[in-house]
Amino acid sequence: MKPVEELKKVAEEVSVCTRCQLHYSRKNAVAGKGPADADIMFIGEGPGFHENEQGLPFVGAAGKLLDELLSKIGMQRNQVFITNIVKCRPPGNRDPEPEEIEACNQYLERQIQAVNPKVIVTLGRYSMAHFLPNLKISVVHGQAMKVRGRLIVPMYHPAAGLHQRSLMSAIEEDFSHLPELIDQAAQIPEFVEDENNENGSADQATQLSLF
Ligand code: URA
Ligand code: SF4
Repeated sequence: MKPVEELKKVAEEVSVCTRCQLHYSRKNAVAGKGPADADIMFIGEGPGFHENEQGLPFVGAAGKLLDELLSKIGMQRNQVFITNIVKCRPPGNRDPEPEEIEACNQYLERQIQAVNPKVIVTLGRYSMAHFLPNLKISVVHGQAMKVRGRLIVPMYHPAAGLHQRSLMSAIEEDFSHLPELIDQAAQIPEFVEDENNENGSADQATQLSLF
């Protein structure tokens, strides 16, 4: 199936999905949006109030900030693919539960396969944990790591920057490296998890030396 068709199929399935309890409280499922040939895929946590109302990802305050961050690196939203780890809003914006993330995962995997982005940017802890379970975002944000052959760059969620202004410069700095990361994707080595890693760091010298 062509990537565009697969993305459309995923969106159709998501709109009527009942695989987890989040379907009871949703108004609109939010499959995600963006071109099928995007170089960058952003993966957030889950739809919030406005996203649930409109059926579109990142249309509230965090989305406005995401647009601003993109424009600072000369990009526009319509050039990137934006989705979430769960496609239906957790009631009251609570954190998604492990069973919900697990139930929803097949949709995300199909989107990743279809778009085949050069870089996946995870926004926030839940999205990062899906690819890099034992790392701390405060330690590894902005570092590119290759996981199962895919380049992952964990970043703070834009909402974290809105709530905690001190994080904003880190977020801007991490974004500023995205264009060069896309160019370097082929050279970044596969991340091998260190079983003795107790401080949540990605302590592979090869990764750190890039920046
Ligand atoms: N926050 C997210 O994680 N995702 C959205 O779509 C909107 C806000
Ligand atoms: Fe289905 Fe995902 Fe929505 Fe749960 S969150 S109902 S798995 S689309």
